[in-house]
Amino acid sequence: MHDNFIGGRWLAGPRHQTLMNPSDLDEAVGDYTLADAAQMQLAVDAAADAAPAWAASGIQARCDALDRIGTELLARRDELGLLLSREEGKTLPEGTGEITRAGHIFKFQAQQVLRAGGETWPSVRQGITVETAHEALGVVGLITPWNFPMAIPAWKIAPALACGNALVFKPAEAAPASAWALAEIIQRSGVPAGAFNLVMGRGGGVGPALLNDNRVAAISFTGSQATGRRVAAACAARLVRCQLEMGGKNPLVVLDDAELDLAVECAVQGAFYSTGQRCTASSRLIVTAGIYARFRDALLLRTQALRVGHALLPETQIGPVVDERQLAQDLHFIARGTGEGATLLWGGQLLRRPTRGHFLAPALFADVDPGMAIAQEEIFGPVAALILARDAEHALVLANDTPFGLSAGVCTTSLKHARHFQHHLRAGMVMVNAPTAGVDYHVPFGGTRASSLGLREQGPQALAFYSQVKTTYVRA
Ligand code: ADP
Repeated sequence: MHDNFIGGRWLAGPRHQTLMNPSDLDEAVGDYTLADAAQMQLAVDAAADAAPAWAASGIQARCDALDRIGTELLARRDELGLLLSREEGKTLPEGTGEITRAGHIFKFQAQQVLRAGGETWPSVRQGITVETAHEALGVVGLITPWNFPMAIPAWKIAPALACGNALVFKPAEAAPASAWALAEIIQRSGVPAGAFNLVMGRGGGVGPALLNDNRVAAISFTGSQATGRRVAAACAARLVRCQLEMGGKNPLVVLDDAELDLAVECAVQGAFYSTGQRCTASSRLIVTAGIYARFRDALLLRTQALRVGHALLPETQIGPVVDERQLAQDLHFIARGTGEGATLLWGGQLLRRPTRGHFLAPALFADVDPGMAIAQEEIFGPVAALILARDAEHALVLANDTPFGLSAGVCTTSLKHARHFQHHLRAGMVMVNAPTAGVDYHVPFGGTRASSLGLREQGPQALAFYSQVKTTYVRA
């Protein structure tokens, strides 16, 4: 049994779940405990007790602890990558790559601890000096989804601890295994008891106890828009800060002058890899008239050749859909796409494999009207919609025509077009001749409009959310 980690102790919750491998629904990954609201409260108690000492700890202690976590993640990337692939259904290279990225995040934020200095300013008044310094917030709550069960926790936990906050980490109930493995590493890293707490449980059951606790100074959340709204409302009611990342409907624009092979590769990578289960996935492929037919035909051939199967098989490129609920959502949107008149060029059907799993053939739609549901709503599966644009300006209008604004890409060989799209795509991240998904660990991550709310995650900017500035005036 894998228990919660609260106040430095492993504690069982009142219930538990057996986690199954989405590539093989007859294989159990492990038993994971499920907390209730009372146990969540214990975790906040522990964090509140530990917060002052951790905030006052030296920067070397914090830097060393984060660095140790990063070192262990990197050393165990193969073993933990395998676990991640078994729990989430990513292919092994994707699973191992995610552990590597998490290791790099911890190591990067370890160094950030040493750089988070303050500033000294001259005052406009004689005899006074002004100093600004960054202080910890206290207790922060971190709520994460299942699709990056190691990287997203890493990019919240590392800066939260770097700034000297105590935290309560609530991973998604669909993917607790990586979260537990990370907690097991953190407990040995030098982070004191209570500064890091793991509470596994159902969002609706334990979430409110975290969101509504007056001792929690901030919430960082990644997940659906519906839950994000709840988190924002709870934080607004208590006047505490929140940071929300809620997905996208990311466009990849392919212009007439694009390099065809590169554009097709960007589309396949962005739309179908990781089974399309990325908030930065390219679910809209907006293609100008001069290249549309060639791009469509080449993409179709490439999509037909994709190998879908058990995540651990070396030949597999696309793993299974994570669970039944997500599969039902994917199938619902595929049916809506055909129902609304789009042409399903390929895929969209369940595939039989030697093991029982939710294997779905990547779905490629053509003749998609920009107003259709498959062109407007986030699906979170291996479903791509080809949309015809008259020219570059029309493509830009279409690209910006959803409420979301996380990531956006453009494939072009023209510097003029590239710069124009860079400036006018309404998204937090723009990719030129690169897939919309796949980001670095040392630079900011986040979106605009309905995709994100609050300060950026990752990179040096991540510290701003987890700390507050104090301005001090000193008369010498
Ligand atoms: P998804 O559809 O990707 O599972 P959710 O928004 O449902 O997205 O879940 C993201 C995270 O939010 C998960 O850890 C989930 O348990 C948590 N969650 C769900 N409901 C709530 C809630 N009412 N309060 C706090 N957290 C919640």
